[in-house]
Amino acid sequence: MKYTCWGAAKQVTGSMHLLELESGYTILVDCGIDYEDKSNKEINANFSFEAKDVDVLILTHAHIDHSGNIPNLVKQGFKGEIICTEPTAYLLEKLWVDSVNIQNNSSKRKKAVKLYGFHEVKKANEQILTLGFYKDFKLNNDVSFSFYEAGHIIGAASVRLEIKEGNTTKVIGFTGDLGNPGAKLIVEAKPMPDLYVLITETTYGNRKHREQRSAEEVLIEHVTKTCIDQEGRLIIPAFSVGRTQSVLFTLKKLFNEGKLPPIRVFADSPLALASSNIHNKFAHYLNDEAIAASKNDRNLFDFKSLHLVEDESDLEDMEMHRDSCIIVSSAGMLEGGRIQHHISDHVQNPLCTILIAGFCSPGTLGAQLLEGRSSIRIKGNDKYVFAKILQTDVFSAHPDVDALNTYFESSNNANLKNIFFVHGEEAAMFDLRDTLSPDLGSKVVVPGRGDVWEL
Ligand SMILES: [Zn+2]
Repeated sequence: MKYTCWGAAKQVTGSMHLLELESGYTILVDCGIDYEDKSNKEINANFSFEAKDVDVLILTHAHIDHSGNIPNLVKQGFKGEIICTEPTAYLLEKLWVDSVNIQNNSSKRKKAVKLYGFHEVKKANEQILTLGFYKDFKLNNDVSFSFYEAGHIIGAASVRLEIKEGNTTKVIGFTGDLGNPGAKLIVEAKPMPDLYVLITETTYGNRKHREQRSAEEVLIEHVTKTCIDQEGRLIIPAFSVGRTQSVLFTLKKLFNEGKLPPIRVFADSPLALASSNIHNKFAHYLNDEAIAASKNDRNLFDFKSLHLVEDESDLEDMEMHRDSCIIVSSAGMLEGGRIQHHISDHVQNPLCTILIAGFCSPGTLGAQLLEGRSSIRIKGNDKYVFAKILQTDVFSAHPDVDALNTYFESSNNANLKNIFFVHGEEAAMFDLRDTLSPDLGSKVVVPGRGDVWEL
């Protein structure tokens, strides 16, 4: 069989992996939007293979850099099933609609190519088939697969394919995005057994999570320093799916236990609200702490001082509010979304703290702030940076170098031929390889975009 990495090769976004079997059967794992390759404006518009030749699409999780180009694949002739877990399917419905709205707004400002519309989103939704974890699904007589918990966001899966060609059966594993062991809400990643080839994410291949404290301790410190000691604003940019819920769940716990006074919290992202509802609906997919909490309270993310910003009047309320508060808003890397409004309004406010709670790709506004720039350009204006810019990795949704090593050791076996590193920056991949045992390190391959590998 042939494996081609058509996205997230030596970069983090645009995951897309094609497996072409000797029989001609073709499997695509993930079909995400590329936010990084600025050299090719058409990178998301055109596929490097025929969409109609793909027999099945297996989706690891809902994040748009893994799922966002699926409606375009459908538009270009893909007629097969899109197989994912049930929480992923619910999230997709919301994320794809949001993606169309963003594309419509950007294309009005002539900033981006429009990839698809609501019609393609509807068609893609009709092609979805959901599958639980650890259930064997036969694609045909020679190919079956199952989902393993990846521990990254709710419903996130690794894909373990068993492929029979001639007299041999090979097990190919795609990690999708893995989780950070011990993360809020989310279960731990389960390695896949008996692998012949592992294709793995390496986002934090050269980083160690530095924060030794719990999420509760970190939030107590930042809320106290910003909102209690100096009556300022704590702005937490957070992806709508996953991080927003982890932050709200932790704040709720701290308020309920009386560890923080009930400071007003604005959750400013309609998508995050929908995502929270999906987390509540599928709470049984979450970790033990969240399941236990959901037995007492069916809404894991709601509390008295929480204000959801749903319409214009909520927005006005928020803008009129001049006392201390916490604002949780998307998107995480500060590229687009409602967070831009808050950053633009408060980046010159020395009483404001912007707490960046995750990975920011190079070039994004989040990365610029973390570099310590004295001014940034936002919403067409140059603004000085007087707000305090801080970072925490306590809410990280990816494993660090140590956790990746542990995962790879658990995945290793005498039959494991290769580990393909994808979904990471190239330098991080080589640094990660150097931390592995000689046996594992000798199996590492770093594919370029479009390179074809015989497995
Ligand atoms: Zn992800």
